[in-house]
Amino acid sequence: MSPWACPFPEKNLDVRHLLASTQNLGFPFSRLQRRDFGGNARTAFSILPLDGLYLLWTNQDPMSWFKRAKDNIQTRTEDKNNTPDGLWAKCPNCKKALQTKMLRKNAYVCMHCEHHLKIGSAEYFDLIFDEGHFEELNAQLVSADPLHFEDTKKYPDRIQASMAKSGLNDAIRTAVGPVHGNHIMVCAMDFSFIGGSMGSVVGEKISRAIDYCLEHRTPLLIISKSGGARMMEGALSLMQMAKISAKLALLGQASIPFISLLTDPTTGGVTASFAMQGDLNIAEPEALIGFAGPRVIKETIGRDLPEGFQRSEFLLEHGFLDFIVSRKELKDRLHLAFGMLMNEDEGEPA
Ligand SMILES: [Zn+2]
Repeated sequence: MSPWACPFPEKNLDVRHLLASTQNLGFPFSRLQRRDFGGNARTAFSILPLDGLYLLWTNQDPMSWFKRAKDNIQTRTEDKNNTPDGLWAKCPNCKKALQTKMLRKNAYVCMHCEHHLKIGSAEYFDLIFDEGHFEELNAQLVSADPLHFEDTKKYPDRIQASMAKSGLNDAIRTAVGPVHGNHIMVCAMDFSFIGGSMGSVVGEKISRAIDYCLEHRTPLLIISKSGGARMMEGALSLMQMAKISAKLALLGQASIPFISLLTDPTTGGVTASFAMQGDLNIAEPEALIGFAGPRVIKETIGRDLPEGFQRSEFLLEHGFLDFIVSRKELKDRLHLAFGMLMNEDEGEPA
């Protein structure tokens, strides 16, 4: 018999499955005859005596222990918020360390310098809705590729890669839920999905959200965070500006309030359309808000730009914003503002 042949042919073991002999395990199996252990259905180990040499066998290819049983990320977007305690983040402004748990309690605002860290739709929903209760609408909408666009990547491949990386289906999520007991619709953009770019999915999701608001007389909040229109959809992305603006006009005619919250950064076609069309246009502190970036403007007009140009505080001073709100007070201020705007006096106008 070959020293590597399995002495128990009925076990259908292969020499590949040899893990170790007593010689290299370094402990004695002298009192063992043959014993199966470690036995779940997937893996069973056996120790087999052979000519005074004891061999440890398994019924599985040992290499399979190092392979994933399941592919891909299985976590849903709303479950991703569970950063374990004790992890640390770093403030991009003051560079100080921030404990993740404390940061969440502080509405993702730096405890040392009040810098508002960039967050996505999941965090905004968590901050705004009562106990995080909300119903997401049209979550499954994904982008088509009508222009067969290709730059360094094919557009569908870029979409797929972004979906896998961010766990999102596009650059916006829309959800309805209670805020201090009153239902509001929140459309929150995600910068992590192709720079928060506005394509046909963003336009369609906001349109459908507005349809919902019209049907249920629900006030609307849009949280903008965008690099502008999505160039891979060409003119189709620009058409979303007109499409959303038309829907917002219907909302205005129905006297349903719309608050636009501009966060860092809000630029391009988003600034040039719905982000500036709120009944109230409000912003987070020190957010970059503009159409073209400062470098382009500087080179076009050939002059130096004033300090703080295109930041929330500068825009407030020049009449583009109604107020600036700290994220820590966002929920309460929204509740108050919507309450005032929704105060429907059924009487005749004076
Ligand atoms: Zn800081």
